[in-house]
Amino acid sequence: MQDSFEKIISEIVKTSRDMWSKGWAEANAGNISLRLRPEIAQDKTTFQPRSDWVALDMKFPNLAKERFLITGTGMYLRNIEISPANNVGVIELDDSGGQYRLLWGYESGCDPTSELSSHLEAQAVRKRVTDGTDRAVIHTHSPNLTALTYALDLDTLRISKLLWEMHTECIIIFPEGVEFVPWMLPGSLELAEATAKGLEKRRVILWQFHGILATGNNLDAAFGLIDTAEKAAGIYLKAASAGPISNKLSTEQLQALARRFALKPDPSILNTRI
Ligand SMILES: [Zn+2]
Repeated sequence: MQDSFEKIISEIVKTSRDMWSKGWAEANAGNISLRLRPEIAQDKTTFQPRSDWVALDMKFPNLAKERFLITGTGMYLRNIEISPANNVGVIELDDSGGQYRLLWGYESGCDPTSELSSHLEAQAVRKRVTDGTDRAVIHTHSPNLTALTYALDLDTLRISKLLWEMHTECIIIFPEGVEFVPWMLPGSLELAEATAKGLEKRRVILWQFHGILATGNNLDAAFGLIDTAEKAAGIYLKAASAGPISNKLSTEQLQALARRFALKPDPSILNTRI
């Protein structure tokens, strides 16, 4: 069991290092959560109660007794590899899903990420809509996607179609599109709820003037979604900086991709003209 938890730690170390290397995680930006599989979560040697119960802003009944590996507030993702136990922790929710306590980590004395509400709401929704398959949530400040929210008037249909049109891979990787959420206070319940609503249908949420949140069945899957969307946003910005964009994937080409890969892209995005 210890080996399995160590493997999970090595995965969060790699993910956080990659996020930093890509320029997505300045200072204490970015946060990661992973719902632990039962065979890892029940490791009684590693996980012991290390704090009192702390009330959450809201209850998450379908996350009752679940255990999460989650980054600490104020911690720098680039420092996780130096000391995982200082910068990340494992928390468990009580049997009502309304309180949490620390089981491992946060040895620097920190608390869970200030985006804990967004992470738990995201985890709760994705656990429900995927029958428990989705376990990972990543939020980060990917610069190309964030830049688009300043440069363009966006909504869910427009950002989704733009990304599909600017990189062949996008409709294959996220045929349901990207949800756009207008600016809201970071860490607020309002932002958590708008994000959760988007996650009913989609796995990638773009927060205006802020960054992105993505979910997946593991850290690689969530990271890959962000990486793909971020690359397409970068291609758009590079192309636009070279002059007016003359060519992009047509709706017919997107439809051909959907047929080739047996996808069911959101038709409202496919029919959007930008
Ligand atoms: Zn942020």
